[in-house]
Parts: sequence; structure tokens; C-alpha cells
Amino acid sequence: TDDLVRAVDRIMRHADSARRLRVRANADNADDAGRARRMGAEGVGLCRTEHMFLGDRRRLVERLVLAETDTEQQEALDRLLPPQRADFHEALAAMDGLPMTVRLLDPPLHEFLPDITELSVRVALAEERGETPEEDRRLLKAVNKLHEQNPMLGLRGVRLGLVVPGLFTLQVRAIAEAAAQLLGEGRNPRPEIMIPLVGTVQELEIVREESTRVLREVGAEYGVELDFPVGTMIELPRAALTAGQIAESAEFFSFGTNDLTQTVWGFSRDDVEASFFSAYLEKGVFGVSPFESLDTEGVGRLIDTAVEEGRATRPDIKLGVCGEHGGDPDSVHFFHRAGLDYVSCSPFRVPVARLEAGRAAARD
Ligand code: PEP
Ligand code: MG
Repeated sequence: TDDLVRAVDRIMRHADSARRLRVRANADNADDAGRARRMGAEGVGLCRTEHMFLGDRRRLVERLVLAETDTEQQEALDRLLPPQRADFHEALAAMDGLPMTVRLLDPPLHEFLPDITELSVRVALAEERGETPEEDRRLLKAVNKLHEQNPMLGLRGVRLGLVVPGLFTLQVRAIAEAAAQLLGEGRNPRPEIMIPLVGTVQELEIVREESTRVLREVGAEYGVELDFPVGTMIELPRAALTAGQIAESAEFFSFGTNDLTQTVWGFSRDDVEASFFSAYLEKGVFGVSPFESLDTEGVGRLIDTAVEEGRATRPDIKLGVCGEHGGDPDSVHFFHRAGLDYVSCSPFRVPVARLEAGRAAARD
């Protein structure tokens, strides 16, 4: 076994010295970040923040949804700040010295609103008992109003950030305060702020301006310099096609191939596997699901366009990918050819991505 371990280490070292692509991991918390580091990840390419609004914190989200005045809304947001700051402090500490791309909230709204059926039953039962469940009734009304037929095409990502005032500001503040605390402890936090589901440069511009303002403000409060990159996911066809404009406001792009595949093909990423993919695979429409292996002619073509346009506007723009394809061997070869700077995948796929990135470079 020692020989085997040494042989594997040697192969990994060869691959690492040959490869041009950097390899990061997707990690949402300190444990995953630590695991990613141990697997050789050179940073976190995607820290999803949705979990920070689930579990015990759902009550706070309910308060946010129910808020009728600016003061109530601000109160709800203020209560979400300390737990988020603690989460970011832990995760950034685990990645000390390495970049960590933190994506601002991107849930389809239904995932973190109270369940409509459960809530209706609760209201009905309380009424049957002769009670007047005022708060639950108000909540049900608010949730009904926000109900969407197609949540994945709805109030998600940057749209939610623009519609719920203070939400993204809260998250950027939590990141900034955590980083400022770590700097005070002599550590080297390297967060990068990423905006999801951008379709037009105007959306990005609004959030970027607010983010830089918050970074400056928190920096002044703590007496430190917080000059962290702000960038965007490219996961809608329109974003890829207008990447030249978007790059004016983005220091980096990260391709979200999950949503890009969904929107380029018009396939629901949540439903297709069960509904018609097996028939498609059987009839040979494609050999492998495009959610598993990159569709280089459609999705890939948009990525090539965005790389070219993005670099034309901003030659030093940093380019990565954080969709599932980031850890798929064939897709890694594509990203190498496309000239990306890094791929980001699940921690367990990091070694495979390192190997494939090495093989891709060796083939040049
Ligand atoms: C993506 O769309 O590829 C992505 C990485 O984001 P999510 O899977 O969270 O939508
Ligand atoms: Mg996405």
C-alpha cells in the first residue's frame, strides 16, 4: 500500500505541475471547506448561503416576509446578522489565505418560505378550535401573494436582492464584518462576493455599488482595508451574450452550468430526469444527460462567447465555473480549452479535476 500511495502522490504531483487550470471546491460551511483543503482545493469557488436562512432561522425569515414597516424589516434583518457573521467567520477562517467565493442568497423563493399546505392546515385547525390565529393568517396571506407557478424562473437570485431591500446589504455586511474580525486576529480572509442569476449589467451595477459601499463602511468602522472582488455568476443565456457589458461591472465571472443548461435547453433541472430523459437516452437524442456532461455545442458555445467578450472588456477578468460540470472529466477538458482560470466542484471530485486538468494541459 505504501508503494501505491507514493505512486498516486507522484501522479498527482505531475498533474499539478502540468495543469494550467486551478481547482477549487464548492463548500457551504467550515467542515466542507476543511475537507476541500485536504483534497487539495486551492480555494472555494462557490459557497452557497441558502442554508443560512433555513432551520431555526426560518422564524426570522417569516418576520422578514411579514414586516409591514421599514423598521420591522430592518429589525428582522438585524437579527439575521450575528448568526451569518459567525458562519462566515468560521468558513473564512477554514480557508485562511485562500480565496472563497461567497454567493449572495439564491433560493427559489418557495424553498425558504413556510410550506403553504402546512400553514393552511395549521390555520384551519386553530379556527376549528375556535381560536383566531392572527399571525398565521397574516403569514398565509403573505405567502399566498408570493406564490409562483415557476419558482425557478421567478423571484430568485439578484431579483430577490433588488426586491427585498436590505437583504444583500445584510449579507455583504456579515461577510465584511467577519473578514474585518479575522484581519484583527492576524488572519488572511479572502472572500469574493458573487451575485447570482444576473441577466443584465444594470442588476449587477446596483448590487455592486451597494456592496462596495458596505465594504468601505465596515472597513472604516474596523479601521481596516476591505477591498474584496465583486463578480457575477454567468448562468443565463442573456448574461453570456452580453458578457462584454457585464464585465464592466464584474471583476470575475463564474459559469453556473446547472442553470445555464436548464435555460439554454428549456429543461427544468428538477424534473427532467424523471419525466423524459430516459426516453431521450434510449432514442439516442443524447448519450449522456447534458446536466452531467457539458453540452459543448450549445452551453459550451455560450461559454466561449462570454469568455471572449468578457476578456475583450476586461483582459484580467478572472473566469471560473462552479456548476456540477466543474468536476466532470470531459467538461474539465472543455474548460481548459475555453481558457478558464479555474473549475470548482464538490470536494470529493477535486482529485479527479486536478488529474484531468493535468491531462488536458499535457495534451496541448
Ligand atoms: C449553477 O446554476 O450552475 C450553480 C452553480 O448554482 P445553483 O446550482 O446553486 O443554482
Ligand atoms: Mg444557479
